[in-house]
Amino acid sequence: MPVRLPEQLSQLRPYVPGIPIEEVQQEFGISEIVKLASNENPLGPSPLALQAIVDFARYGSLYPDAGCVELKSLLASHVGLPTSQISVSNGSDEMIHLLSLLLLRPGDNIVMGDPGFSRYESEALAAGAQTRKVSLDENARHDVSAMLAAIDNNTRIVWLANPNNPTGTILRRSEVGALIENVPEHTLTVLDEAYFEFATDSEYPSSVDYIRSGKQVVGLRTFSKTYGLAGLRVGYAMGPERMIDAVERVRAPFNVNALAQRAAIAALSDTKHLTAAVDINKAGNERLHRFLSERGYRVFESYANFVWYDMGFPTQDFCRQLLMRGVIVRPGSVFGYDNHIRVSIGTDAELDAFETAFDAILQESVRA
Ligand code: PMP
Repeated sequence: MPVRLPEQLSQLRPYVPGIPIEEVQQEFGISEIVKLASNENPLGPSPLALQAIVDFARYGSLYPDAGCVELKSLLASHVGLPTSQISVSNGSDEMIHLLSLLLLRPGDNIVMGDPGFSRYESEALAAGAQTRKVSLDENARHDVSAMLAAIDNNTRIVWLANPNNPTGTILRRSEVGALIENVPEHTLTVLDEAYFEFATDSEYPSSVDYIRSGKQVVGLRTFSKTYGLAGLRVGYAMGPERMIDAVERVRAPFNVNALAQRAAIAALSDTKHLTAAVDINKAGNERLHRFLSERGYRVFESYANFVWYDMGFPTQDFCRQLLMRGVIVRPGSVFGYDNHIRVSIGTDAELDAFETAFDAILQESVRA
C-alpha cells in the first residue's frame, strides 16, 4: 500500500501566480516587460530597507530572532495594540495557513466572497473543510446579509478581504460593523487588510478598533504591498490574545527570516516612501479608471493597488495579446470571471505601456 494522501488532494490546485517576466521575455523575445499582474509596489522597497538588508546580510549564519521581538514591538506602537495581540508571519499567506490549520477540521466550513482571494479556499480544502462562496453584489462588493445567511453551526471562519482581491472594493464601517455584530460566537471573523494603507476613504474601518473593543476579530496586514517587500515575506496578524497565543503555538519557530525582519523594521520607519507609494497609486488608479471607462468598460471602484474591470467578452485572448506586447495583467478567468481583467497600478511609464498596447489591440480588432 502506498503512503495514503488526503482525498481532497485532487481538488487542490497549486496557486496560479502572475507570469514571471523572464518567461514572457523568452517566449516572445521581447526585453521590455511591464508586469501589472501581482499587485506589487512599482517603487520597489524603501531605500532604508535595502540598506538594512545589506547591513545585516553578514549575520546570515545566525538564526533569526524567533520571536520577532523588535519588529513586533514596533508594530505594537504602530497599530496601538500590545505585543501579546500581534503575531508576525512569512507573508500574510502564512497567517491564512496558520488560522486554517488551527480552526478547520473535516466537516467545518468557511464563508468568503466570490470572486475572492483563492488562498482561503485552498487552505480550507487542505484542512478537509468546505468553502461557501457568496457572490459579491452588483457593484462587486461583499454582500453582508448573504454572507451572514451562509454561516451555519459548522462555520469556523468568515473571511472578509477589505479591500477585496481581485475587485479592490471595500465595505465601510457600518457594513463591517453589521457583519461583526451578527457573526455567531463560534465563528471567527478575519479582516484581511493586505491593502489597508491604500484605502484612504474616511469611512474605511480598521480591524484594530474591533479588536480593541473585544470582538472575535483577527486583522491581517502585510509588508508586501505599500511597503514594497513582497519578495521578503512579512505579514502579521492582530487579534484577541487567545487567538494570537494559539497562532504562536502552531507556527514554525523561525518563520520570518532575519533579513525580512530587518527590512520590515526599516520600512516601517520610512513614512516618506509609504506616502509616495500611496500617492502614486491614487494617481494611477484615477488614470486607469478614466482610461478604461472612456473606452466603455465597466470599472469597479478600487481602494487597492489594482483595478478590476469587465470587458463584456472573454478576455483570455486579449490578455495574451497584451502579453505579446510585453504587458502582463491577470485574466479574470483565474478568479472564475472570464470577462474581467485585473490590472495592477504601476508607474506612469508602466501605465503608458499598458495603454499603448491596449489601444493597439483595439485598433487591430477594428481593422480585422
Ligand atoms: N490577502 C490578500 C487579499 C492578498 O491579495 C494577498 C496578496 N496576493 C495576500 C493576502 C497575501 O499577501 P502576502 O502573503 O504577500 O502578505
